[in-house]
Amino acid sequence: MRTLKDEIISLIHLEGPMPVERYMALCLGHPTLGYYMTRDPFGAEGDFITAPEISQMFGELIGLWAAQVWIDMGSPPGTGLVEIGPGRGTLMADALRAIHQAVPAMLSAIDVRMVETSPVLRARQQANLSGVDVAALWHADITMALHGPVIIIANELLDALPVRQVLRTEKGDIRRVVGLGATGELVFGFEANLRSADMPTAVLIEEPFAADILIEQVAAHLAQDGGAALFIDYGAEQGMEGDTLQAVRQHGFVDPLADPGLADLTTQVRFGRAMALARAAGARVQPLASQGDFLMQLGLAERAAVLKRRATSDRARAIDEAVSRLTRMDERGKSGAGMGALFKAMAFSHPSLEALPGFGPPAT
Ligand code: SAH
Repeated sequence: MRTLKDEIISLIHLEGPMPVERYMALCLGHPTLGYYMTRDPFGAEGDFITAPEISQMFGELIGLWAAQVWIDMGSPPGTGLVEIGPGRGTLMADALRAIHQAVPAMLSAIDVRMVETSPVLRARQQANLSGVDVAALWHADITMALHGPVIIIANELLDALPVRQVLRTEKGDIRRVVGLGATGELVFGFEANLRSADMPTAVLIEEPFAADILIEQVAAHLAQDGGAALFIDYGAEQGMEGDTLQAVRQHGFVDPLADPGLADLTTQVRFGRAMALARAAGARVQPLASQGDFLMQLGLAERAAVLKRRATSDRARAIDEAVSRLTRMDERGKSGAGMGALFKAMAFSHPSLEALPGFGPPAT
């Protein structure tokens, strides 16, 4: 069978070395051989676990976040609850269940818009939401979901969007590319032959052009039609020079060039850049929060206590473990243990929404 690696090698033979952003886009989104196009990668038996797959509490708290935002917006009818890159649909199913319990009137006032490029995951999401009593539509592109007031949620989406990598030198930018080595294997290189002595100040920069466009579209829409957006992902606010491209397969790091299309490829999100773009597009931007602080402010500990009251001792232990995994502040990389500090929550909104739940000043 022809693999994506065969396909990429013949493309390079035909056209020459390909820019990193094209490699990343093919690996994740090739229509028939791309990583997300062919599989459901989540969970213990898959390649990696995301927060909504760790615990139902994650989606429930985000549902309550959305409900509070909707109330703060003045409870407008016709609001779109939009999720971009919903994976298995677990987060949305948990969120809608929590909304149903806390603010039932909201469910008849909103419609759900799922933005997903993968047909496999779209089918999975449709099955997961088949029992819920709310109008839901699927779109392949965010622009289709941006009409009227919206509440937007995206977990681990931005890290999966392709980035351009360039070596920034005094004499201009040089693109990082994927080409063929002496034995015909995929290797990283640069568009120009480099003599490091010639460029003492050269530094590798990642330009998340696809995330930039998405953030600008969302922020401009919110500033015009109202609502708020919440992006949770791994990354930092400032100072992220260097190569952050990483590949994960079966819960471990692998060489990003080893098995194109068979491993998850991500880069760290540059939150400061995204926040500046959102502000420039007219949105009110909240200070960046760690995932740990965000979830605790939304009441993770209280929700865990409620669930534990009705739980067996095994189940209670699993709930404690989930809380710890979601909030613990040790940095062990994306597929490591503690997500509390490495992962961040970023939110912005129409300027009339002053505070957003979960982004208050840190508790003393
Ligand atoms: N939010 C889910 C899944 C994260 S993985 C969770 O937390 O479990 C990334 C998701 O984004 C997948 O569903 C993938 O198919 C989707 N995706 C990737 N690129 C996309 C794009 N440009 N537009 C919409 N969805 C995209």
